[in-house]
Amino acid sequence: MARTAPQTKAKRSYRQLADQYLICRTFLHAWDDVTGLDGVEVPPSHEPMGARIVLRCLRCDTIRYDTVSIINGLLLSRGYKYPEGYHLAPYDGEYTLRQEMRFEYLSRRK
Ligand SMILES: [Zn+2]
Repeated sequence: MARTAPQTKAKRSYRQLADQYLICRTFLHAWDDVTGLDGVEVPPSHEPMGARIVLRCLRCDTIRYDTVSIINGLLLSRGYKYPEGYHLAPYDGEYTLRQEMRFEYLSRRK
């Protein structure tokens, strides 16, 4: 059996997040409706009775694409486009808890 090198755990942790990403992950995004603004791509809806709403986070520039029924307002689909550096890598199959991020946020405020 071939020997393998030990796995390193050098993955991005919440401690390496830029401040705006940490704040959004801790307190959620600050959405603004940018549908129809210049330079904002609005992908066509795949739902015949769906209207697209494009939201952008004022803090971190994450984009959210909602498709909403024009009949009754039901959310039909939702997708996100995240900026580079936003994602955290899971380590050992576990994700960082929001409690840990709140604690990190407090430590940065000092
Ligand atoms: Zn955000």
